[in-house]
Amino acid sequence: MNNSLVEVKNLYVDYKADKGVFGGTQLIHAVNGVNLEIKKGEILAIAGESGCGKSTLAKAIMRLENPIKGEILFDNQDLLKMSRQELKKIRKNIQMIFQNPYASLDPKMKIYDTLKEPLKINTDLSEDEIRKIIEDTACKVGLDKECLSLYPHEFSGGQRQRIAIARALVLNPKFVLADEPVSALDVSIQAQIINLLKELKENYNLTFLLITHDLSVIKYLADRVAIMYLGDIVEIGTVEDIFNNPKHPYTKALLNAVPDIQNEKKEKILLQGELPSPANLPSGCKFHTRCPYVMQKCKESIPCNINISETHYTKCFLYEN
Ligand code: SF4
Repeated sequence: MNNSLVEVKNLYVDYKADKGVFGGTQLIHAVNGVNLEIKKGEILAIAGESGCGKSTLAKAIMRLENPIKGEILFDNQDLLKMSRQELKKIRKNIQMIFQNPYASLDPKMKIYDTLKEPLKINTDLSEDEIRKIIEDTACKVGLDKECLSLYPHEFSGGQRQRIAIARALVLNPKFVLADEPVSALDVSIQAQIINLLKELKENYNLTFLLITHDLSVIKYLADRVAIMYLGDIVEIGTVEDIFNNPKHPYTKALLNAVPDIQNEKKEKILLQGELPSPANLPSGCKFHTRCPYVMQKCKESIPCNINISETHYTKCFLYEN
């Protein structure tokens, strides 16, 4: 039985960006051959440095970016082959929580109307049915009924993120994409939102794709982790695989950068140099310009996925037989 809700196959996304002071545009290769499976009811996290392509991948799954190649299967249907009408129907099952709750809520709309909008657009429900769903959803995310008649500016940052989460859940989606859902919040309220996401996943069997650079959030929330480097997944495994037995030199370097999450074996790999420009991808293994174990073949050939265990894969020549 296929247990996947989302499958991304050989996905490529390019976009044009300004060259800055030199004028003209350049082609950014943001996602480069990603293969990924998100299983029903799991939280899959994607981690990597800023600029690694994780947000572009999320936007491509939401169809906010147009991939140049590949497949994005949702419930076995390819989102890239759907007409506008077909996409509209399936969209209510795919919702997104954005990084900044200040920017994602309309300041002129009362919370009730903000939550009502997607139901009006996507369903034929009566006013009474809509009211019931809105009140139930507000309760799910820990908001009182009284909050519904207020405006966004009357809430704290944490409450606004609860409202943004309620808006994502009001259509009862199967899949939620959370892009840095706590990074714009004060540290004191991040834990509340993290706990809320965990509760929602456990109580409502939701499937999440969590995009974040914060490895402590991943360690607490996720079931599996994909490590992304220059637009490709270089290692994927369960939280235990990645945090207790990391294999790819880039994963080890990322973990070493966070003092309280260093891996057990404490192999010190420090990230050297800057992330190369995605406009000018290195040949072979894209990590070779920063890898302390680089070999000649790393510069010439692209490593394939190597199974470390049934749940754990990495792309690195060091693990070839
Ligand atoms: Fe380093 Fe080579 Fe492995 Fe790439 S394939 S991570 S360059 S050892």
